[in-house]
Amino acid sequence: MRLGVFSKFKPFRAVGLMECAGAASILIAGLVLVQAQPAAPAYSGPLLDAHLHYNSEAWNGQTGPHPVADVLQRMQRNGVRAIVANSRPNDGTLLLARLANAQAAPVSSEPGTQAITVVPFVRLYRNRADYDTWFQDESIYSMVLTELARGTEAGPFRGIGEFHLYDSANANGPVAKKLMALADDKALAVLAHVDDVAIDLLMANTPSKGQRTKLIWAHTGLTGVPVERVDALLARYPLLMGELSYRPGLTCTSDKDGDRGTQHLCPAWRALLIKYPTRFLIGSDTWVNQRWLYYDELMQGYRAWLGELPPEVAANIAWNNGAHLFDLPPADALR
Ligand SMILES: [Zn+2]
Repeated sequence: MRLGVFSKFKPFRAVGLMECAGAASILIAGLVLVQAQPAAPAYSGPLLDAHLHYNSEAWNGQTGPHPVADVLQRMQRNGVRAIVANSRPNDGTLLLARLANAQAAPVSSEPGTQAITVVPFVRLYRNRADYDTWFQDESIYSMVLTELARGTEAGPFRGIGEFHLYDSANANGPVAKKLMALADDKALAVLAHVDDVAIDLLMANTPSKGQRTKLIWAHTGLTGVPVERVDALLARYPLLMGELSYRPGLTCTSDKDGDRGTQHLCPAWRALLIKYPTRFLIGSDTWVNQRWLYYDELMQGYRAWLGELPPEVAANIAWNNGAHLFDLPPADALR
């Protein structure tokens, strides 16, 4: 996410007392009785936050409102056991990698104190100005190569991004093309905040034409790309993954009595998640400090709607899909 969209900032609401789709109506002696069913229990397994930023304003280079101890604690108390970390500039990711790695020897097996695996990505932005020019800026390509060669204390960088394309045609910028080819060649993942048109363009710029490209689609179409179009792209590109933060239309507000105002998975999205159980990820997108303040609510919101899915689909979206992408143990091995 980026800039000036606080009106869109809505932490998910916790699921309510009953699941709207599960309410049973019974007609007895001319009276309609609505029998409430208990809400599905929230998903309780490990979470992999596949879209996390630790930007300079969170810690200001040395100190800040959210020092490393603060953000690690937020992750731990929410059962987040791994993160895809990137930051503007990359120092934040390097710091997270160093400190999370230092505590990687099991702190404790107690919930809330477990170690966190950092999956580092190279961010393309040294500052805010880079958002608008990275796709044609050779110095950013050089910076990426330098960072990849340097790696982190938690291991090598595993991906590139998040990057943004506000005009999808810039997917054909010279540096965008080179970075996509690099990602394909080195089996790096790419975290891209783009529209559906740019997905096709970025994929076309890879040697495999998108058949081997690990592209994590940030927000899975923030502009509300139709479900049918998301479906078609997932079918076309076997390693395209949809990250679900801020995705419009994912959850619907119930208007049923006894459940009014609570959020549930919308039917079309529930069907898509079940159709492609290995292709979706969750993420916090801590693009501004406010997202850190609401980190608990964001993760609770994910756990609530994950609980509405078949357990194996929930575990996949919460953990296994990202774990498979980055060679981490499956959810069952973490319990
Ligand atoms: Zn983001």
